[in-house]
Amino acid sequence: MPKDFLKDAQSRYDVVVIGAGLAGLTAANILARQGRSVLLLEQHYKLGGMATWFKRPGGHIFDISLHGFPYGMVKSCRRYWSKEIADSIVQLDGVRFDNPMFSLWTSFTREDFTNQLIEKFGVAPEQVHAFFDKARGMNFYDDQQTTTRELFDEFFPGREDVIRLLMEPITYANGSTLEDPAISYGIVFSNFMSKGVFTFQGGTDKLIGQMEEELKKSGVTIAINCDAKKINLKNGAVQSIEVDAKGATHTIECDAVVSNANLKATIFNLVGEDKFDKNFIDDAQAVRLNNSSTQVYMALQEDDRLDVQELGDLLFSSTAPYFRTEALLSRDITSRTYSFYYPKTRPEGRPRCMIVSSTNANYDDWAKLPEDEYEASKQDLCETTLDALEKYVPNVRNRVVHVEASTPLTFKHYTAHVAGASFGTKFEGLAVSRALPQQVTGLYHAGSVGIIMSGWLGAMNYGVIVANEVDSQLETNNSTSTSGVEKQLATE
Ligand SMILES: Cc1cc2nc3c(=O)[nH]c(=O)nc-3n(C[C@H](O)[C@H](O)[C@H](O)COP(=O)(O)OP(=O)(O)OC[C@H]3O[C@@H](n4cnc5c(N)ncnc54)[C@H](O)[C@@H]3O)c2cc1C
Repeated sequence: MPKDFLKDAQSRYDVVVIGAGLAGLTAANILARQGRSVLLLEQHYKLGGMATWFKRPGGHIFDISLHGFPYGMVKSCRRYWSKEIADSIVQLDGVRFDNPMFSLWTSFTREDFTNQLIEKFGVAPEQVHAFFDKARGMNFYDDQQTTTRELFDEFFPGREDVIRLLMEPITYANGSTLEDPAISYGIVFSNFMSKGVFTFQGGTDKLIGQMEEELKKSGVTIAINCDAKKINLKNGAVQSIEVDAKGATHTIECDAVVSNANLKATIFNLVGEDKFDKNFIDDAQAVRLNNSSTQVYMALQEDDRLDVQELGDLLFSSTAPYFRTEALLSRDITSRTYSFYYPKTRPEGRPRCMIVSSTNANYDDWAKLPEDEYEASKQDLCETTLDALEKYVPNVRNRVVHVEASTPLTFKHYTAHVAGASFGTKFEGLAVSRALPQQVTGLYHAGSVGIIMSGWLGAMNYGVIVANEVDSQLETNNSTSTSGVEKQLATE
């Protein structure tokens, strides 16, 4: 008999959180700390969502999305998780760019970018300062009509090389394009530019393990292998949720749901379009998904060491003559972002060196392939990546003991994201996500949407915002029901 993963759960919770990505985990933790009863459902057998890892024989542990995040993670982790988690966040030693237009090393700080733009790219200092000030001053309520391309044209007209330096890492980091609103670029860029790029020492497995401990301390009921199938409503409000818990199905009652599942899946699959206003559904249908990714994971022999001084931690490499979004997504790969992992990544683990090559990708390029072509394409991805890597890691083919690839289908399989979207939806998804509770009382979404609310930091911070909204809604429910009771007592 398959195990029933909800066997020990209660029949009712204040809040059910669907999905244990960073937004879902954080929302669950905050709500439980605020005294709410919380059930956290995760369809996979592991917590973390895209913030995940996998192990292979020989002591190899590969991280999927631990490549770099802004300094803001320190504050968010300290405030909403623990000091211990925040204390493991360390700065990357070196970030590199190598493409036909330029090759450089950078600490990815405002100071260093300013110096490089002035000295290496010959841009006038006042232009550079004005650009940084404009990006830093951007906020969410600014005009959304100006595109990132127009922003660059204002400050660096005709400078394809400067645009590449400023844009390529952000496109890689969350799929944004030159056609997206400039504010979304400006805010993310400024976040990174505050102090540089950071990582979690100990690896994703350690981070998620520590988060799980915190959730237990906060009193969250954690249920893995539990697939939320349907959110039931009554009189326009959330009433219960149906869950496939492998060995049994359950209906759990609740006052609020925070869905960390893909925004479109939440609206169209979990709730159903007939439960929303037509205009809202039109907006939801128009939301574009973000792109997906491919990755190649490579492990070096046990005693083989890469040199961080030579390679850095993160290398944005491209053979394309210019920066073009289509080229970054093309199946004919010209851009690869390499993350080099050294024994310092997991100082407490078995010392190993790993390389993960990541490239943005279109779901359809992979989903439509017949099985044999799909397998051949994956093999080709491994081979061409090893060829490309030879430039940076000589003799790499003889040095690796394990190579495998993931595709958009892999991401879809493990996270249930529509089209394997790596960063949820494009910018317009944010407004739709924010409007959900006006459509259905008690229904919230938290997870990667747009550019600002994606990546580790964006997802986590969105979980915080939504948790606080859920808490105030529950507070209002309580005070309304108290005043209802008071009224009733007064009439009696
Ligand atoms: C290849 C790659 C590299 C990346 N690199 C970086 C990086 O270097 N830095 C960075 O900051 N970000 C990076 N990201 C992005 C970052 O990982 C994500 O933006 C972030 O982790 C998403 O968090 P989330 O809360 O939106 O949820 P997700 O991680 O998308 O998790 C959603 C969860 O919901 C679960 N779920 C879905 N449907 C159901 C259901 N019906 N019932 C139960 N559970 C359900 C899923 O299984 C999943 O666990 C990368 C992403 C990818 C794919």
